[in-house]
Amino acid sequence: MRQVNFPKRQREILKSVGKLAKKLGYSAYLVGGPVRDLLLGRTSQDIDIVCIGDAVKLAKKFREKVGGKLLSHHHFPNATVKWEEGKIDFVTARSEKYPKRKVGLPAVEKTDDIMIDLGRRDFTINAVACNLLPEYFGDIIDPFNGLGDSEKRLIRILHSRSFREDPTRIFRAIRFRLELEFNLEKDTEKYLKHDIKYLTKLTHDRLWKEFEICLEDGSSILSLFKYYGILDVLGFNCPDENFKERVDIGSVQFGVNSVNTYILALAENRNPKSLNFDKSFTRQMGYVREIDNKRLVDVRIVHELFNLEDYTLLYLFGKYPNNSIIIENFFDNRDELVCDLNGKEIRELGVEEGPLVGEIMNKIIEKKWLGKITSREDEIEFVVKYVGEENDT
Ligand code: ATP
Repeated sequence: MRQVNFPKRQREILKSVGKLAKKLGYSAYLVGGPVRDLLLGRTSQDIDIVCIGDAVKLAKKFREKVGGKLLSHHHFPNATVKWEEGKIDFVTARSEKYPKRKVGLPAVEKTDDIMIDLGRRDFTINAVACNLLPEYFGDIIDPFNGLGDSEKRLIRILHSRSFREDPTRIFRAIRFRLELEFNLEKDTEKYLKHDIKYLTKLTHDRLWKEFEICLEDGSSILSLFKYYGILDVLGFNCPDENFKERVDIGSVQFGVNSVNTYILALAENRNPKSLNFDKSFTRQMGYVREIDNKRLVDVRIVHELFNLEDYTLLYLFGKYPNNSIIIENFFDNRDELVCDLNGKEIRELGVEEGPLVGEIMNKIIEKKWLGKITSREDEIEFVVKYVGEENDT
């Protein structure tokens, strides 16, 4: 029987999980991604364990041994142990039954058969388990020939309804294709193309999560989104190569994570209210609609730039190359773009109490933005001159 070669410390940890499971009269398996990655010779930080028995009890025993924290999720007996060396997810083996006619969440039940648990998974390469019980330690359970597909570097669904049942698997297939440098098996690709339309059934919340995960490793996945027509079917825009190049450069230059920048670009043509995205993101979508290339050169824009999140500034940097220097300057100088004089000091220079004080502060910031005020003395001089001119009129 094919065995997994674990790194030394991981092997010790997994052996102790197997022993604890045996003492409780349970079975325990390492499943999914970590087995796939170990078989491919990739290092995997994740440890996902499926337990035939009560995963929370097993997790508690494990925590007693290694210390750390236990987080349990009571809607289904699952738990996570976090300790100084890492994190393990313990999941109770389960079956999932999807509604026959519509897309929706599955009915979930406990099972005591690991084959059933593997049968609910997305792709053959992820439907592989490794036994942790002492007498079978390291034995691979591979009911769908995930090992064969892994050798052929293929992503294959377990059955023809897979993408329809859970359209997030479309994103997962494309992500694994890129990440593992695998191909989609012929029928899998056929079903994927056919079932793309079911993506519209996903809630915006789930869509957002998939975009986030997919864009975590950069924008190269967008070409595959385009190729498979994902963006068209969802009514999203595909950013062009120039935008991507500039955003990738800006992301390094300003130290800004570009995930949300890309989501802004995807959603560029959508009415912010038509997407049920997070409130703060929706506000940012609104702001970018109000700022175009022409307005970017208006000095008064500086006050609006303060409303923007870094990912939105990065978006403007990518979108308007001929004025991107403005965003660059803002990133470089925004910490200095405050008024040194406070309201009291401005009044002491002869300005009447009221809205004028705020207006003068704004003017000072605009002058600083233009490089025309660079010191406290300049600010005082500006206020004095302003008061003089007001008195003359
Ligand atoms: P990675 O962490 O590298 O993205 P992973 O395969 O570990 O890969 P997870 O999202 O952690 O990804 O999922 C763990 C396992 O759960 C998968 O290997 C797969 O067996 C199963 N799984 C996850 N999402 C789905 C899904 N939508 N449908 C069916 N099975 C899934």
